[in-house]
Amino acid sequence: MEDIYFPELGMSEKELMKKLPFTKATNGATGKTLDFSWYGKIPKGWRIAFGRDMLNEMAAEYKNFTRHDRKEWRVTGVMEKYGELRIYTGMTTPRMDDILEKYTSLSHKRCLECGKPCVQRGDGWIYTMCEDCYEEMVERLGHGAGIRTPFD
Ligand SMILES: [Zn+2]
Repeated sequence: MEDIYFPELGMSEKELMKKLPFTKATNGATGKTLDFSWYGKIPKGWRIAFGRDMLNEMAAEYKNFTRHDRKEWRVTGVMEKYGELRIYTGMTTPRMDDILEKYTSLSHKRCLECGKPCVQRGDGWIYTMCEDCYEEMVERLGHGAGIRTPFD
């Protein structure tokens, strides 16, 4: 597996998964722990904008988990849907859900490519991108395209 470096965290994906094991992705169908992090599947701009804050809050909440919660709580998918960040979990807790919802709301206002503040735009598909990144994408692809990152 290729190790990705996350500048916003000052560490690589392998280091992150060692420090915060709950960042490992899980296959929702089989329950198998995968060898990459769900964090790395978050669009780069959102990681830059609030990745560190989100992980800090999640880590603090994870400490409150019971043993049962720790065994059961898993992130089974990350995607950009309707222009917002969606983090899918198997079993979850109300407080962890609150944290994830907070960052879903925040994702509406940050460019998913570069992290800059932005407004959403749409032509049927909702794009959460700043002017520059949107123009760059249209130039590159000739049109807007769906950006999805489901787990294999
Ligand atoms: Zn941008």
